[in-house]
Amino acid sequence: MITVYGVIGFPVGHSVSPAMHNAAFEALGMDCTYQAFEVKGERLQEAITGAKCLGFGGLNVTIPHKEAVIKFVKPDPVAAEIGAANTIDFKKMMAFNTDAPAAVDALRDNGVEIAKKNVLVLGAGGAARAVVYGLLKGRASVTIANRTPAKAADLASYMRARGDVFGTSFEGLPDKVRMADIIVNTTPVGMKWEDKPLVTRDMLDKTQAVFDLVYRPVETPLLKEAKAAGAKTVDGVSMLARQGARSFEIWTGVKPPLDVMERSARDAL
Ligand code: NAP
Repeated sequence: MITVYGVIGFPVGHSVSPAMHNAAFEALGMDCTYQAFEVKGERLQEAITGAKCLGFGGLNVTIPHKEAVIKFVKPDPVAAEIGAANTIDFKKMMAFNTDAPAAVDALRDNGVEIAKKNVLVLGAGGAARAVVYGLLKGRASVTIANRTPAKAADLASYMRARGDVFGTSFEGLPDKVRMADIIVNTTPVGMKWEDKPLVTRDMLDKTQAVFDLVYRPVETPLLKEAKAAGAKTVDGVSMLARQGARSFEIWTGVKPPLDVMERSARDAL
């Protein structure tokens, strides 16, 4: 019998996860399918229970449910520390966070080492929580700069037990950028065609690396600026494919073909 997997979120119609996972199932000859399901917040618990009762293999959880999900499914220690999860495994009935390790994987697989590096993280929302956690685990020093500085300060104080982290505002951003080895954008700035990047080429040089979590468009205005300055770039699809591959392995115990998943995500975008 076919095993069903899926992603729940709202909205979720734009998700490229079905393309990524179905390509991996096909490549491995597995009798499985992956679909997107639109679920509003008030139906989250019912949707999880329903999927479990229907025998789903597992679920990904996306915006806006990544934090709420751990109220209904026991988080593993990493998801509990981050305070958010993006993967539910029904066999273990446990929620996992694959965003944090995927952010680090994306940097390392693109030749960017993080240990002992100064990393400037732009944004202090849900994605930043996972990214900052992953960076601190990888022994980076992290500065979180956010439009609402109080949120950067809150996230930094929450994460302080895990490593060297500091929260600040966007004030004096050019100097903050110049002092960083790696700049990570975790804000949605760049998703709209009229968006002006928070960091521009005059703030960057070729010794730096710039990682943009935004994956639609694949080449964001920020990555264009970074390329123009000669900096190394890492795009959001790199992370997207790696979080998906880690979810796949949690559910099936099988390492999926990452190249197939990443290519299908790029094609779908
Ligand atoms: P979120 O929780 O809503 O947080 C958004 C953050 O961006 C907040 O810190 C917010 O600042 C800041 N922000 C929003 N609009 C801004 C603007 N116009 N100027 C400056 N700062 C702004 O969102 P999220 O869940 O963290 O997601 C953020 C992005 O990451 C999305 O584009 C998402 O698609 C992407 N993402 C990608 C992956 C991947 O695998 N590549 C994984 C997860 C997320 P305030 O605190 O001031 O509101």
